[in-house]
Amino acid sequence: MVCLASYAKIVAMKVGLVYDPIYLEHDTGSHPENPQRLVAIMSHLEETGLKKKLTSLTPRPATIQELEMVHSPEYISRIKREAEILRRPSPPPTLSGEGRAACWLDPDTVICSRSYEVALYAAGGVLTAVEAVMNGGVDTAFALVRPPGHHATHDRAMGFCIFNNVAIAAKFALDNFNLSRVLIADFDVHHGNGTQETFYADPKVLYFSTHQYPFYPGTGWIDEIGVGEGEGTTVNFPMIAGWGDEEYLRVFNEVLVPVAQRFRPELILVSAGFDPHWADSIAMMQVSVTGFAQMVEVLKKLATELCQGRLVFTLEGGYNLQVAAASTKATFDVLLDSPEITDPLGKSSRVRHEGFEGRIKKIKQIHHIVKS
Ligand SMILES: [Zn+2]
Repeated sequence: MVCLASYAKIVAMKVGLVYDPIYLEHDTGSHPENPQRLVAIMSHLEETGLKKKLTSLTPRPATIQELEMVHSPEYISRIKREAEILRRPSPPPTLSGEGRAACWLDPDTVICSRSYEVALYAAGGVLTAVEAVMNGGVDTAFALVRPPGHHATHDRAMGFCIFNNVAIAAKFALDNFNLSRVLIADFDVHHGNGTQETFYADPKVLYFSTHQYPFYPGTGWIDEIGVGEGEGTTVNFPMIAGWGDEEYLRVFNEVLVPVAQRFRPELILVSAGFDPHWADSIAMMQVSVTGFAQMVEVLKKLATELCQGRLVFTLEGGYNLQVAAASTKATFDVLLDSPEITDPLGKSSRVRHEGFEGRIKKIKQIHHIVKS
């Protein structure tokens, strides 16, 4: 006879993978956020045999009503219109001889004729993951979508992002599954200004972010903690360039864990950006693949302890293809309870630790985190 506790251990975790080739149709040319990111990740999951262990989930497009939970109708219409213009036959050559194959929404964010529809599926892909986890079809899920989302604001595209996928998913979970509290943990190297803005006065969503600072987009200082009823439910840990696994792990264990335990989320969403890796040239943090896996482990334990394991990841940044592929695999390995994590790139030799003790002391004061 098998007792229930040991029986639970031998039941494999059911982990969902949201992916569709439509995500490759957001054509950004030679931009760092390009389709090759997902091609590299998916090839690696296939070649290593990991994909077979996952439950494939087919994404649906988000509805306009769902987008409007975060974005203005005018902004949504503008993205749709710009993509439509790009679909029209090329006009006769102008004096400058330039055609119009792409449209820049801001200095960093470009769209092609397919981008509006792809962005609907990016937002909808995270909703698919949330639905599967909340309905119990899978234990956890990772939505491998693009374009990413955490910089997109109510009425503005920013930083490679069109619609704020994770913010829409949090609103959707609150509204459709009758939840009261959702945690968004964001470890992308950039601050998720759009996500923060969406929930800055909202006590139902705890937004926690680690990000290089000072850095793009300029927001996310330690004293940005929310306003009104949302005061205290925004937690920013600005990271100094050069910090690595040790600092990230301490912030997760000493800041994220206690604030999450106090907040008691019913669902945890993760903006997973692998650009804090030491080999990602877009920024200067020194995290390793092993470090990401350890952070995922903390998130998984929190979800198990606080919200019946409900945990949904969505891809944000990460521009070194080998890093993105290995880190995504490591994330899945942790979610699957795989015994071994492979880190083909190893640890950084350039880690610095200066300034950390003062910073962590300061955030504990600001957010009233007392040592247990
Ligand atoms: Zn980023």
